[in-house]
Amino acid sequence: MSRYEEFYRQSVDAPEAFWAEQAKLIDWQTPAEQILDASQPPFARWFVGGTTNLCHNAVDRHLAARGDQPALIFVSTETGAEKIYSFKELHAEVQRTAASLMELGVGKGDRVLIYMPMIPEAAFAMLACARIGAIHCVVFGGFASGSLATRIEDAEPKVVVSADAGSRGGKVIAYKPLLDEAIRLSKYKPAAVLLTDRGLAPMDLTAGRDHVASELRRKHLDAEVPCAWLASTDISYTIYTSGTTGKPKGVQRDVGGYAVALAASMKHIFDGRPGETYFSTSDIGWVVGHSYIVYGPLIAGMATIMYEGLPTQGIDRQPDGGIWWRLVEKYKVTVMFSAPTAVRVLKKQDPALLKKYDLSSLRALFLAGEPLDEPTARWISEGLGVPIIDNYWQTESGWPMITIANGVEAKPSKFGSPGVPMYGYRIKILHESTGEELTAPNEKGVVVVEGPTPPGFMQTVWKDDARFVNTYWKSVPGKMVYSTFDWGIRDEDGYFYILGRTDDVINVAGHRLGTREIEESISGHANVAEVAVVGVADALKGQVAMAFVVPKDGIAVTDADAALKLEGEIMKVVADQLGALARPARVRFVSGLPKTRSGKLLRRAIQAVCEQRDPGDLTTIDDPATLQQIRQLVSSA
Ligand code: AMP
Repeated sequence: MSRYEEFYRQSVDAPEAFWAEQAKLIDWQTPAEQILDASQPPFARWFVGGTTNLCHNAVDRHLAARGDQPALIFVSTETGAEKIYSFKELHAEVQRTAASLMELGVGKGDRVLIYMPMIPEAAFAMLACARIGAIHCVVFGGFASGSLATRIEDAEPKVVVSADAGSRGGKVIAYKPLLDEAIRLSKYKPAAVLLTDRGLAPMDLTAGRDHVASELRRKHLDAEVPCAWLASTDISYTIYTSGTTGKPKGVQRDVGGYAVALAASMKHIFDGRPGETYFSTSDIGWVVGHSYIVYGPLIAGMATIMYEGLPTQGIDRQPDGGIWWRLVEKYKVTVMFSAPTAVRVLKKQDPALLKKYDLSSLRALFLAGEPLDEPTARWISEGLGVPIIDNYWQTESGWPMITIANGVEAKPSKFGSPGVPMYGYRIKILHESTGEELTAPNEKGVVVVEGPTPPGFMQTVWKDDARFVNTYWKSVPGKMVYSTFDWGIRDEDGYFYILGRTDDVINVAGHRLGTREIEESISGHANVAEVAVVGVADALKGQVAMAFVVPKDGIAVTDADAALKLEGEIMKVVADQLGALARPARVRFVSGLPKTRSGKLLRRAIQAVCEQRDPGDLTTIDDPATLQQIRQLVSSA
């Protein structure tokens, strides 16, 4: 048995002993009385009776040994800002923010919704919530009012933390009007809004509700806010993710299990060491940002780079395809984390940029969020000369589920495969309709996880245990297993390959979007009778959304000018409601949509036709001409 196999076996054969050992990687105020309570499956409660605090483990714990060392390195190629916060400075800022939130009435268990660009104040707010036991709920800054409103309504935050504006590619995006509109749309109204003024866009303040963060901060410059000792099973945060229905799910996580899972992953998977620098190019709005911009690296005593900007723009705001490598050199980054789409963007730049900087500090580049194609993996692996480690996971899991645990054993990678199941995860491939386990190599089925799920995994869906159980644990017939909703195969050596989603979720540039949400938004246009949105393969972004619309007046089907106009209007509706990210690449007009005789939309058949693949069994289709029309539209494009 190889070293990793032995490690893995221990984790699944004797999970309590295994995780009790991992729990020593963090500080506890009181140790757990029971390592795992799995008495009510599928719920898994980790480190029951233990008390700890995420902020203590990320910040306070390091003050003695490395208080003056960098903790947070902020680089914005949008504003030209570059600033280093030591652990001591981070500690002070977090307490100031915590005191400000407390002044606004925030206490343990209250929700704080964070709608922020990639600025240090966003991390301060997250850590401040963790410190006082408030539940943060970070919403990606690229989302527009409609998406934000649904999340405000579901999270019912006492306070919203936001800023005047974000910036992308030099273009200022005012957040405050988007937030005001979201609060107007939401049935639930937050009591207060705490706003960082970056001086990028004017802000209209609502008296009695809106507060400028710098004014509150000034009052609390010397604030000392002790960490609240929380039960391991208390809620640390919720993060919304897309699913099959239009309503996003609030993925809910605990405190102690998450802290242990992250500490363990920093050691066994990322192999990041105290005093080194970690650089994740993600955004705090995504789970990667929670786990591997904010909490993971800091818990490990590493400095973390928070980067605002495009991968192709320099600190002087001039084009610079080497900016990330420049930062690796400057801050001696040892571990880097990005997404395949970002690498595909960089691949279009001058390859000499990779050789221009001293990248000798870098030990590995981790890529996740979407399938990593072989040409991209080869290009970056040859360019950097360090291992490229694909890692497969989900918002729900909080940390990698399938990858290579380099910190345990440097097993070889295989192109196209993220690797093998991580310790703690009993991953199986099951037949979609019979639920039977597929054990022969290369048989395609649904990738599932057998309970109990490891520490760090979602506790439940916020306010909706039934949805958690019914959505995730009852989708495979006859078996209570967690479905990832991904297709996969396992080869003869036990390496997994992920083959796309089984549900209506699409993945645009590593960002997960529900086609139903986009459809609901498009249906809001007065001239839309019916709509189907599918994800179509794209060389740069992995997938893009394509919308097929039946217009009420029918004119756009026959008149090219009318089609162009309506397409523009529909795109605007989506961008205004959900955000530019969700805007379809194209809107096509058709006279009918392919459906089964019972009226179910044949999204997979539409997708296959768009990708010029065989649509498969069409015996149930009601009107074959509908698919033919789509085929013609696609082939004439
Ligand atoms: P999210 O919850 O937004 O992180 O999206 C999770 C989904 O992204 C997974 O269910 C997969 O469909 C996809 N995904 C994430 N990482 C990978 C990977 N390394 N390879 C293939 N697909 C991935």
